[in-house]
Amino acid sequence: MTRLSGIRGLLLDLDGVLVLQGRALPGAQEALRELDRRDLPYHVVTNTSLFSRESLASWGRSVGLDVPAERITSALSASAAYTAHAFADQALYVIASADARREFEGQRLLSHGEADAPDAEAAAVVIGDAPEEATYDNLNRAFRLIRRGARLIGMHKNRWWLTPAGPTLDSGAFVAGLEFAAGVRGMILGKPSPAFFREAADEILAEVRRAAPPNLPRPHRANVLMVGDDLWTDVLAAQRLGLRGAFVLSGKHGRAELEQAARQPRGGGRPDLVAASLAEVIEALD
Ligand SMILES: [Mg+2]
Repeated sequence: MTRLSGIRGLLLDLDGVLVLQGRALPGAQEALRELDRRDLPYHVVTNTSLFSRESLASWGRSVGLDVPAERITSALSASAAYTAHAFADQALYVIASADARREFEGQRLLSHGEADAPDAEAAAVVIGDAPEEATYDNLNRAFRLIRRGARLIGMHKNRWWLTPAGPTLDSGAFVAGLEFAAGVRGMILGKPSPAFFREAADEILAEVRRAAPPNLPRPHRANVLMVGDDLWTDVLAAQRLGLRGAFVLSGKHGRAELEQAARQPRGGGRPDLVAASLAEVIEALD
């Protein structure tokens, strides 16, 4: 098996790396303990937008996975951080679950009624996963606000994910639908957007620097390993930004996708490491 040297911090995808179909993957918690034992800091980076980081952390504990909220960066938290800074004090129309909306605390969110006013305006429309909220009426409100000048922001643009019920439609379809109807291009804030990986890599590198003995060379992006089960969104996207990428076979993609990406002339490539699980990735680190 290939070995990777010089890794000093990790970014871990959640679904397909630590959990699958609502349950912790076997060995996931032990793998996190092994990272702690080796003093390798990690952050969980996930396109999950259905739950706040607090809820995600407490759900994790309920299925046997102990990741504190402050070690999670989600497409939702990245979107809320972005709007807080880019559209401070301006109105937003956010299609997200009630729990997800907690991440926007202190920001001005339009109610559905307010968004309905004929002259309603918003600085941005933000779309996340919200099975109950992604109704025709709400998407139509979003569409009208975009026509009046609101920016379209997708927390992510994932096509689908695996749930206990099987492959399930993700909110990327609604972002694509609004882009199509309004003739605009949405801004995507989760993976695989370069801004998301840049931010996540900076955070983990800051942690590595704080913990490192002064005689070690200054860490850079190639010392950060992104571990994911989505070959394109996690692994190849991170590699394009100078991070290293490990592809795990414990999630939604497998050998067929590996071959497809290797042959793909644009947007394809090969991961730095292929492993069965996160535990196997850690074993490959020198
Ligand atoms: Mg995943």
